[in-house]
Amino acid sequence: LTSGLEAAWTKLKGEEVLTKENIAEPMRDIRRALLEADVSLPVVRRFVQSVSDQAVGLGVIRGVKPDQQLVKIVHDELVKLMGGEVSELQFSKSGPTVILLAGLQGVGKTTVCAKLACYLKKQGKSCMLIAGDVYRPAAIDQLVILGEQVIVPVYTAGTEVKPADIAKQGLQEAKKNNVDVVIMDTAGRLQIDKGMMDELKDVKKVLNPTEVLLVVDAMTGQEAAALVTTFNVEIGITGAILTKLDGDSRGGAALSVKEVSGKPIKLVGRGERMEDLEPFYPNRMAGRVLGMGDVLSFVEKAEEVMREEDAEDLQKKIMSAKFDFNDFLKQTRAVAKMGSMTRVLGMIPGMGKVSPAQIRDAEKSLVIMEAMIEAMTPGFCFFFHLISFNTKQCLILVWLRWTEEREKPELLAESPERRKRVAKDSGKTEQQVSQLVAQIFQMRVRMKNLMGVMEGGSIPALSE
Ligand code: GDP
Ligand code: MG
Repeated sequence: LTSGLEAAWTKLKGEEVLTKENIAEPMRDIRRALLEADVSLPVVRRFVQSVSDQAVGLGVIRGVKPDQQLVKIVHDELVKLMGGEVSELQFSKSGPTVILLAGLQGVGKTTVCAKLACYLKKQGKSCMLIAGDVYRPAAIDQLVILGEQVIVPVYTAGTEVKPADIAKQGLQEAKKNNVDVVIMDTAGRLQIDKGMMDELKDVKKVLNPTEVLLVVDAMTGQEAAALVTTFNVEIGITGAILTKLDGDSRGGAALSVKEVSGKPIKLVGRGERMEDLEPFYPNRMAGRVLGMGDVLSFVEKAEEVMREEDAEDLQKKIMSAKFDFNDFLKQTRAVAKMGSMTRVLGMIPGMGKVSPAQIRDAEKSLVIMEAMIEAMTPGFCFFFHLISFNTKQCLILVWLRWTEEREKPELLAESPERRKRVAKDSGKTEQQVSQLVAQIFQMRVRMKNLMGVMEGGSIPALSE
């Protein structure tokens, strides 16, 4: 989606003002990009119409280039399309909050149960899971194992009891133990069928849940949006959880669900680890779709693992395009602590859209990069000079030289000797060093573009 949209902006370079004529072609690019991302046709039509209406009426804004204006309109419209604000989980005022999960088979329901418990535990809430998938004993075992992993109790009643009865017993158990949040897993089917819907309706009646969340797989594109609509009509849901966003490079599901079904995406799954569940931020998703990287998500995640000043500093640097090898190193070291590579790379501007198949390679190349950065001079270096006058008197000249290769990648870009030395000290080839140097400049360029867009129209995703 990103590259398709980038094509649209470049066509406006050199224009003075947005007109009906000069936006025609960029609008076609946007339309094509959205359709290729598997956004449904009616949604695309409305979107394109709304963007062109706004663009043409805009006139000249001093200091803002037309392509930046269009980026801003598209950004804001994307945010609106996805529901605008973050849609928070609701909690019951008295007694346990009950969350019922529904969805087709294999979309990630059982995994989400445990992820959600892990997420809520971090907010200080006690949780209990109920194993309601009675069709496969393996499904119950899976939930029990995941429950152990996140240290949350799992209520099971085997496969002979009806899901609605399991729900009732589980809820009693939760009340007895004063649990804050009860999350119920249910059985999926390969396709929608009446049996599943009836079962869910029965369970819902018994539980009277605060949240009924439909789990959908991001990779299914606009199909996900259609499912949310169907489930909402059939059983009444409060929102959706979009899983496997880590493997989805198109974004069609994220863009369509709210508009098609009227129900918000509340949470997204971005990987297989228990920590890989987070709120759905429409403005960040819009930024991501526009190819700006998920700067805020990244900084937020970084904050969890870095000291606070470090992270703030990093945000400033990302914003001011002064990102250097020290930051690069900090990031790569934080990566291991922050979760899957796919997700972290996707969040760094200029490094998005990495296919899972490339991840192993990327991980390997990170080790290589680290070795090369280690071999760069970090900052102050001491140089000693001893000048002896006679045996008793000597003057020691110490000077401090700021060699700063890590802070000034230019030094390496300009000097083949320096690159040669780094290559030698790190045991890598000169070509590898050159690539790394080129990479940091590419990242800076990306960040500069980002700044341009921000100055042009203060995009909320980045100035919040
Ligand atoms: P269920 O049939 O709906 O209960 O689905 P499961 O919870 O058993 O998940 C099916 C598969 O999808 C498992 O292998 C999960 O590890 C995987 N999965 C679930 N969520 C995600 C996600 O956000 N990203 C990725 N990459 N895999 C996921
Ligand atoms: Mg399951």
